[in-house]
Amino acid sequence: MTYVVTDNCIRCKYMDCVEVCPVDCFYEGENMLVIHPDECIDCGVCEPECPAEAIKPDTEPGLDQWLTLNAEYAEKWPNITVKREPPADAKEMDGVAGKLEAYFSSEPGQGD
Ligand code: SF4
Ligand code: SF4
Repeated sequence: MTYVVTDNCIRCKYMDCVEVCPVDCFYEGENMLVIHPDECIDCGVCEPECPAEAIKPDTEPGLDQWLTLNAEYAEKWPNITVKREPPADAKEMDGVAGKLEAYFSSEPGQGD
């Protein structure tokens, strides 16, 4: 089992999650984060910290696509452990439907 970052992180990217993870398993893309499924120890502390409610346990149904995406980009993007400012329009983007199709970027973020 692991936790996964899902659609609503895209362009919200508040990054409250990275500071609480005991094993530093968040990786940063240009406009979202992912969790490395092989590094996550399933502690669950990040889930309630996410203002966008974008972090889910992979035991929830329907998350296969997100588990695959988290695994793929955790290998490609830089590690992130320090919170920075969220995007200026993070609040407006919170809850927007269909972000994966409309806004996902495969480009890496800056990392720590
Ligand atoms: S706190 Fe939530 S929205 Fe912010 S970066 Fe982490 S997963 Fe994404
Ligand atoms: S569940 Fe725990 S180990 Fe996994 S990403 Fe969240 S804080 Fe890190």
